[in-house]
Amino acid sequence: MSPLKHGSKEKRANKQKEVKNMAIDPVCKMEVDEKKAKFKSKHQDKTYYFCASGCKTAFDNNPEKYCKKVESDHPKRRGCC
Ligand SMILES: [Zn+2]
Repeated sequence: MSPLKHGSKEKRANKQKEVKNMAIDPVCKMEVDEKKAKFKSKHQDKTYYFCASGCKTAFDNNPEKYCKKVESDHPKRRGCC
């Protein structure tokens, strides 16, 4: 006779919601995880994150282009600066 022992598994519902700080790659508008971003660039005291070196290079070459809101007919402003 061997009593069946139930291994009591503790329910661990420790799924904490990670607050991800997703930055937007100003060049291609992709979401970039700030913590994982390998490519970043500072411009006017703001840090920008990029998905690839190509995007960073493009930004570095002409940050104004991506920072300044190009005159557009979008009513809502969602500029990066
Ligand atoms: Zn990109």
